[in-house]
Amino acid sequence: MKYIDEYRDPAKVKALLDEIESIVTRNWVIMEICGGQTHAFLQHGLDAMLPPEIELVHGPGCPVCVTPLEQIDRAIAIATRPDVIFTSYGDMLRVPGSSKDLFAVRAQGGNVRIIYSPLEAVQIAEANPDKQVVFFAIGFETTAPANAMAVLQARNKNIKNFSVLVSHVRVPPAMEVILGSTSNRVQAFLAAGHVCAVMGFHEYPPIAEKYHVPIVVTGFEPIDLLNGLLAVVKQLESGNAVAENQYQRAVKFEGNESAQRTIRSVFQSTDRKWRGIGIIPQSGWGLSPEFQEFDAEKRFEVENIFTQESSLCIAGEILQGLKKPFQCPAFGKQCTEQSPLGAPMVSAEGACAAYYRYRRDVIYG
Ligand code: SF4
Repeated sequence: MKYIDEYRDPAKVKALLDEIESIVTRNWVIMEICGGQTHAFLQHGLDAMLPPEIELVHGPGCPVCVTPLEQIDRAIAIATRPDVIFTSYGDMLRVPGSSKDLFAVRAQGGNVRIIYSPLEAVQIAEANPDKQVVFFAIGFETTAPANAMAVLQARNKNIKNFSVLVSHVRVPPAMEVILGSTSNRVQAFLAAGHVCAVMGFHEYPPIAEKYHVPIVVTGFEPIDLLNGLLAVVKQLESGNAVAENQYQRAVKFEGNESAQRTIRSVFQSTDRKWRGIGIIPQSGWGLSPEFQEFDAEKRFEVENIFTQESSLCIAGEILQGLKKPFQCPAFGKQCTEQSPLGAPMVSAEGACAAYYRYRRDVIYG
């Protein structure tokens, strides 16, 4: 197939749904890791067309959702300073901190700017030498290469008024936390195709073997998603548990080695706190010792922050596949897209936002 509409062909979608239905014999719980996949399933109505034996649960692959509250509050503390231009991807501005969000900082006069590439932040720093320019470097393996590149560029250009507030996370350690939990329900994973385009999927065979779970690298169009599901169901039904690649047009086993080298040149593996989940050992990247001068946390001394989560939000259970958004008592009531209580209602990859946009029928009928 060559064009995007071929990956949405209704006849091919129906054929794949029929094939999945023809081979499934018992109930299976399958987690799509990436929030982009959650949105695609719900947007195209695929979840409602699956056989009733297949239950999709939604994983932690939403970078905005898992960025810890402490980091949001640090961002707010830094962005409030009069000498700072704070730059971020747009989604992060609406994520509630303990008492407000970055949009509120901007409304109160803070210089908070939405950018589309971290390299823009470096340019802003060059153009404003009398200001401190901070970039909110969040995300999974997908955004890490560009963020590392921005730090490298700032160093190469000797730009001293640029720094990054880092909150990078990695997928494989989170999969192991989910599988190792005593309350785990997940029996197989659709792995995130774009993460694997960068990192490959060489980290997955040991996880598949250790926990005996099929892991299938999957893309984002309807045909991709159903091909991934079909491969997972075939493995589950036959008792297999291996890592396999259904997104071959974008993913190689070893991944993009140049991008990985760029990441490793700036970042090193570190323990990272995930919002709603807690600290996962070696699940993130932080600046390596060589690049500490670009660390906004140290530059602005915001390491000690007291946070206050909403008592209503059950995002942690949703991100681990233990509950669905419509099981949250606040869903569609105190928490809406217009007035979100938690990050999964804000992000374009958040599971709560996906249900709010596409599946409000599950609670309202
Ligand atoms: S619906 Fe809102 S309050 Fe409930 S889990 Fe989702 S983001 Fe949190």
